[in-house]
Formats: sequence, structure tokens, C-alpha cells
Amino acid sequence: MASEINMDLPENLKGLSDLAFNLWSSWHPEAQRLFKQINARAWKETAHNPVKMLRTAPRVALVRASENADYINNYKAVMARYARYMQTKTSWFTENYSHCHKTTPIAYFSAEYGLQHSLPFYAGGLGFLAGDHLKECSDMGIPLIAIGFMYSDGYLRQIINADGWQEGVEEKINRENAPIKRIYTDDGKLIILKVPYIEPDIYFTLWNVEIGRVNLYLLDTDIRENAPEYRNITSRLYSSENERRLLQEIVLGIGGVHALRALGISYSAIHLNEGHAAFAALERVRQYMEGGMPCEQARAEVEQTLLFTTHTPVPAGHDTFPIWMMDRFFNKYYEQIGAREAFLDLGRHSEDPPDYFNMTAFALRSSAYANGVSQKHGEVAREMWKPLWNVNDARHVPIGSITNGVHLPTWINPRLVALIDVAISRTCPDWLQHHDEENVWNLIRTIPDEDLWELHQTLKMKLFNRMREAKRRSWVQHEADTASVLSGGLLLDPNVLTIGFARRFSTYKRADLILYDIERIKRMVTMPYKPVQFIFAGKAHPADDDGKRILQRIFKISQSPEFAGRVAFIEDYGEQIAKYLVQGVDVWLNNPVPPLEASGTSGMKAGINGVLNFSIEDGWWLEGYNGKNGWSFGKNLPAIRRDDGADANELYTILEEKIIPLYYDQSFDGVPYEWVAMMKESIRSIATQYSARRMVKEYVQNYYIPALLAAHEKKMHVDSEQNNKTE
Ligand SMILES: *Cc1c(COP(=O)(O)O)cnc(C)c1O
Repeated sequence: MASEINMDLPENLKGLSDLAFNLWSSWHPEAQRLFKQINARAWKETAHNPVKMLRTAPRVALVRASENADYINNYKAVMARYARYMQTKTSWFTENYSHCHKTTPIAYFSAEYGLQHSLPFYAGGLGFLAGDHLKECSDMGIPLIAIGFMYSDGYLRQIINADGWQEGVEEKINRENAPIKRIYTDDGKLIILKVPYIEPDIYFTLWNVEIGRVNLYLLDTDIRENAPEYRNITSRLYSSENERRLLQEIVLGIGGVHALRALGISYSAIHLNEGHAAFAALERVRQYMEGGMPCEQARAEVEQTLLFTTHTPVPAGHDTFPIWMMDRFFNKYYEQIGAREAFLDLGRHSEDPPDYFNMTAFALRSSAYANGVSQKHGEVAREMWKPLWNVNDARHVPIGSITNGVHLPTWINPRLVALIDVAISRTCPDWLQHHDEENVWNLIRTIPDEDLWELHQTLKMKLFNRMREAKRRSWVQHEADTASVLSGGLLLDPNVLTIGFARRFSTYKRADLILYDIERIKRMVTMPYKPVQFIFAGKAHPADDDGKRILQRIFKISQSPEFAGRVAFIEDYGEQIAKYLVQGVDVWLNNPVPPLEASGTSGMKAGINGVLNFSIEDGWWLEGYNGKNGWSFGKNLPAIRRDDGADANELYTILEEKIIPLYYDQSFDGVPYEWVAMMKESIRSIATQYSARRMVKEYVQNYYIPALLAAHEKKMHVDSEQNNKTE
């Protein structure tokens, strides 16, 4: 039972609290507007956080809204829409899979979720993918519940010092002001659970986040019951200390499955988003065995209902733990499953040092279904993991692929939605609900080019204003010197071709590839009449000094006299800046070392907003590029290679010969018509193919339905019987 929150709202606006606590409001602009209208200043100051806004906005503003007839009308309309959304029993899922409507949900496990600014539970792409997955499942009515962590130190605010070195300022999340609720027992006590059979005892409590119709439960070890050294197991993402990481994964997998039982939630199948939660499979086996099932049968049953999604195309990116370390925590657990050796064997991988347990190997051996996150990544994963199946031919490795997608309503600009609406709602009024269908988009060409271009210019200005605003703030808070204020983008020119590059600063992403030939790029940024300018953003992992060095190089370039005013760096990249960038720059650049970008998603976010992708052939772009929706380079190269010179030269040539001329080929009215045609093609092709809707449909068709049916056929109601027992 989630706690009731008392918000002290006017009687006729009580529903605002429901909207604030359900992230449904975050992807419905009309709901966002309700909050903004109460007090635009407070809305901005709270970084669009409705809970904080309702708690801190001046009372008079709320009272004034409650007495305004127009406001109340809007409020009622939004509340009605919200109620319909939450209550409606028909959905894409019920319409297409009526025979499955009685099955219990899928349990989705992920160590990170990128959902909203006030919930900093993500490091990067993996988290946003998980967040978008949940939102889309809610929209489509997929029965799904999710498990994750409540990271109390989730947020590392990025500050770049005068020398260009990244420093992190830790900011604890304010639980009061986040859209999360504690879970209580029916008799009003805080739920405290213990990770079963792990020694020493680890206790945790639970929080709930509502994402439309989907519930996400967050595990939190920061409670008095724990020994001091265990209180902060869940305090921050991905500890670089191995033992702490093992403890996290024990809590997420074993604790997560235990939590579902304690909450009385039955589920049919498990979807592991990356290997961090793979111990969930183990705990499920143990639960079946506890119910009297023999080990082998329990393993088979769990396998038939387990889907594992891998995201990491480099061997070093997979978690491994020394077995001596595991033994320290698992002794009592081994006794329960009675098969220490057999269990540890499932985590062995011939490419690891002996006596290590590999979480991905364990996840792959434990699941009937597994996939990579783009076609190319599927291939790479099959090649990488073929030793597990003892085959030479990677085609025989049972790992499929589903290419990632992004939640359209979250990432597309609402004003662009309005513009598209005018053009295509005549033939398809409900197009937003069918945006993954090709024919919906036939009329996109009827959007007046001038209007689309004008909107794009407006969104570019909004980005530039946002950058100025951020620098104004850090200046008044004495956090920035003059040089960094200027390199923060104040001097960018809105009429200049603007290229954006924003993502984590991992070395393989090569943020500084564009600086390979410094003279050549200098010529481009200073070219008379047709210059280019660059905006960079992104954080390096706190322990990644190589990444920090690349960041430093770019930061210094942005402050050097030759590049000043033409290269900008935005500090503290997160979900909000990402939105401004993917909606406001002209070109989205991506040049990782192939094939290390498993999929990539920021380019999809740019593409659906008409921001043209200019990317190396890797990840999703190998499939997404169609010759008319952006530019592609780095074709036909051997599997893994790193030839920065060749890549940079090709990149420069395309910029000089194709992109720059096309952008500046503007007619008398200032509109580059050919460019705008490409923008439309980008929106159309990428919205149909790379939205989370297409992705979730594939997950349902390829994996969820078979797993749900396997669960159903075998009448595995073991769960619900066992729900009555507790450890
Ligand atoms: C989408 C997104 C990412 C992932 O981008 P990639 O292209 O996969 O690197 C990372 N961070 C933020 C804030 C995002 O919005």
C-alpha cells in the first residue's frame, strides 16, 4: 500500500496531487501546462518538478488558480483525460491479445531508469531505454511491473573547473520533493524486507513510482535495520568497487523477486534489462524449489519464462565476480538450492579468468529468450557469446535482436506535434496513437516548408536561451568565470549551421574526433558566409580519467581564442538539456568506434524532431539510414577497427561537400527547401521505425507472448500459491 501524501491543495484542485505523483503528466503537455499556469516562475525554478512545485509554490497562486473559471475548465478536461487513460480496459494489448488478458504481468528488472529530472536514477542510454519502455508499456496497456533502485545520491552534478577538468558535486535527492511514495503494510507499518538466505542480513524498504498504468518499485537499503556498511548499498549507481557492486546485484535480483512475493504480486515472466539483475532467475528457482519442485524442473520452468536483453558489445563491460567473494554471501543460499557447483558453473565463461562468475553468462544460460538491441548488436553478441554454446558458427547462437526505440510523446516537441496535427489529422485524427504505421505519415509533405522551418528556428532559439539561462545562474551563484560563461554558448549565432554532440564521454564515443585535423575544422568554423558551430555536452564517469581528458580537450577548445564563440560546452547534461538539444540543433553527430555503439538512442530523439543525423554506420543507424534522412559514413570497414584519421577525413569531406552547402542553399525567404524536405523524411522514417511503440510491439510479439503462454500452459500458479507463505 503506497502512502497517502497530503499536499494542502484547494478543495477543487485536489486532483493535481494525483497528476504530480503520476509521471503520466510528464508526457502530456496539457498536464504540464496546468502546473506552469499556477506560477510560471515556480515551475521554472523547480525544474518542472510538479511535486516540488505544488509544495513550494506560493499559496496565493494556487488559490487564484482555484478561482479562475478557465483554469478550472482546463483542469477538469485534463483530469477527465487522465481518468480515462487510467481506467480504460481496452488497449493495444487487449485488442490484439484478448486470449492473454488473464495472464499476470511481466516483471521488468533494471538497475537504472531515466524517467524525469527529479528522479536521477540513470547513468545514460540504458536508463532512458528502460524509462521509455515503461512509458510505452503503459500507453499500450501491456501488463508489466518494474523493479529498480532508489538511489539516494543519484545525482552527480557536473561542474567543470577552470582547467577544464570535470568535478562532480554530489546532490542527494530530496525524497520529499520527488514523485515517489513509500510502501506500507496494510496495517500502516513501513515495509521492511530481508534479502532471503544471504549472509549477513541485508534489509530493504520499498518505494513506488507511478508511470501511467505501470508501477515501478524501488528498493532502498538506507534504513536503520541495516549494519552501517549496508545502508548505502543502494545509494549510488554502479559502484566501481566490486564487492559493493555484487551486493547491489544481490539486492536487485534476489531482493527484487522477494519483494514481488511480499507485495503479493503474481507475475508470469521476467524481463532482465541487462545482466545486473540476473540473480532474479536464481531466486525464482529457489522459490519454486521451496514449493517442492525438483531443481531441474524449477530451472526449466524459470528458463521458459525469462527474457534477457544484453546491451554491452565489449567483453570488459560485463560484470564478473570472483567466486571466493560470492561464497562469502551465498553460503546459506547454496544450502537452500543444494547445488553450489552447478549454480557457479552457469556463470563460467571460457574467456574469463578461472573462478569468476559472469553475470551475462549466467543470464544467457538461464533464459530461453535473449536479444541484443540492434541487428548489428545481435550479430556482435552472437559472435561474442558463442563459446557458451560451444559452436563455431555464430548463427547457431540463440540471441535475437530488437532495435531500441524512443517514447515519442516524451521526446517530440509538442509544437511539432501541433504542426503535424494540422497536416495529417484530417485523414488520421488519432495519428499519435498510430505513429508507427507508415500510411499515417503520407500527408506529412503537406506541412508548409516555411512553417516547419520557422518552428525549427524557434526551437533553436529556445535552446540558445536555455544555455544562456544556465550560465546566468552559475554566474550569479559564483560558480563560473567569464571564460566559461562565454564558452557556455552565449556567443553562438542562431543563423549558423549548428551541430550537436551530446552523450556520455566514454572514449569509444570519440567526442573529439571532429578535432582530429584542427586546421581543417578551424577553416570550417570560420568559413565566410557558411560557417559551422558546435555544441557539446556530456558527463564522464567519475572514475574514467580518459573520458575526462577528452572532455577537457573539448572544453579548452571552446575557450581558445580561435574557436571562441563557435564551439560551446553545456555543463551537466541530463534529460532536460537533452530535450532542448535534440529539438534545437540542426545536425546530430555520432562517431563511435564501430561496432561499440550497441544501438544509441539520442539520434532517434533528434530524428523525430527533424534534426538530421550525421552518423557513422553503427548501432541503429545501420538500419535507420535510408539515403534521404541524414548522412552516413564509415561503410564497409572490417569488424573492429579504430582508424581515427580515415573516419575524420570522411566526416570532414561530407560536411564540406554535402551538409554545409545544403544548409546554406536558402532561397530568398531564407528557407533551405531541400534541407526541410530531409527534415520531413527524417521525422517520418524515424518516428515509424524507431519509436518505443514499434520496439514494444516486437518485445510483445517475439518474447512476451511466448513467455506468457509458456507460463499459462504450464499452469504455473506456483507463484500465487506461494504468495501466501513468506520466508
Ligand atoms: C537518450 C539519452 C542518452 C542516450 O544517448 P546515446 O545516443 O545512446 O548515447 C543519454 N543521456 C541522456 C540524457 C539521454 O536523453
